Amino acid sequence: MQPDIIVTAPLPPFLYDPLKADYRCHDYYQAPDKPGLLAANGATIRGLVQGGGTVTPTTLLDALPRLEIISVFGVGYDGVPVAYCKQRGLKVTNTPDVLTDDVADVALALILMTGRGFVRVNRFVHSGEWEKRNPELTTKLAGRKVGILGLGRIGKAIAQRVVAMGMKVAYTGRNPQQVPYEYIGDLKSLAAAVDFLVVACPGGPATRNIVNAEVLAALGRKGTLINIARGSIVDEPALIEALQAGAIKGAGLDVFADEPHIPAPLGAMDSVVLLPHVGSATRETRQAMGDLCKANLDAWFGEKKTLTLIAELE
Ligand code: NAP
Repeated sequence: MQPDIIVTAPLPPFLYDPLKADYRCHDYYQAPDKPGLLAANGATIRGLVQGGGTVTPTTLLDALPRLEIISVFGVGYDGVPVAYCKQRGLKVTNTPDVLTDDVADVALALILMTGRGFVRVNRFVHSGEWEKRNPELTTKLAGRKVGILGLGRIGKAIAQRVVAMGMKVAYTGRNPQQVPYEYIGDLKSLAAAVDFLVVACPGGPATRNIVNAEVLAALGRKGTLINIARGSIVDEPALIEALQAGAIKGAGLDVFADEPHIPAPLGAMDSVVLLPHVGSATRETRQAMGDLCKANLDAWFGEKKTLTLIAELE
């Protein structure tokens, strides 16, 4: 018999169709009567599929007494109540690695777009300004220092890319690693030492607003903030204040505190480049993420319950 699973996020057809072929899917996201869906099917549901940005409340999990596994279509567990899952013995999986290159490309693009002013000068040409005057000069990137907050899979791929451009790399995290980059033990000192501060650590309670007013002050007028990780990691009002005051040089952002709502002041500033959370948004990568999201469920519900494909909750 096909296992029952509950789907709590909008899924692309290349993931949802194969899931429907192998599982009895209950679409909680679309359901007009969510309590009714839980009352009718909650007792039989054994798996849950959610998006990377979905927040799963414990009250929902309480209504699923036979739940065994949560498969996240995305990287990170910041929307999952981790302590609750550990305590209940629920498996939690996600889709790391397959999106690393794409997200690192976006970080590199944001460094280029902010540092060399490519978005600004693109607008300059489109608006016909070039007929009237020359573009302003920007900043040479080779030789500048990039500070990476969270030197994990994506952070290391960013480091490789910026080193190839002749930039220097420093990083911070909970522990120093065996890597050829400078480790700086605290975030404020890292910010003070670099030209670009790139946020690449997980979201969630442990990192909420750790890029705060003090860190931004340390980054200073020489510095640009790049965030490709999660909006929750940056104190957004403090960032807006720092940008408006000219206390930092600029920002390149792929993620925000309340997506897809962007605070109006961010959109109004020329020193800011904004992307609509497109870190992993290529056809190839989203397909690979979908395949892995389903493969993790298949591995769990398969005969051997092998977990070899699963990035388990740490
Ligand atoms: P990862 O391999 O787990 O790397 C995370 C890194 O962050 C680790 O090196 C870890 O190092 C560090 N870290 C963990 N907790 C920290 C803390 N409290 N303070 C400082 N550093 C901490 O994850 P990844 O695959 O590189 O992905 C990183 C994040 O990128 C994800 O969690 C996700 O939020 C985000 N992401 C964004 C997009 C997008 O579309 N923009 C796409 C995919 C992922 P230590 O253990 O040494 O601290």
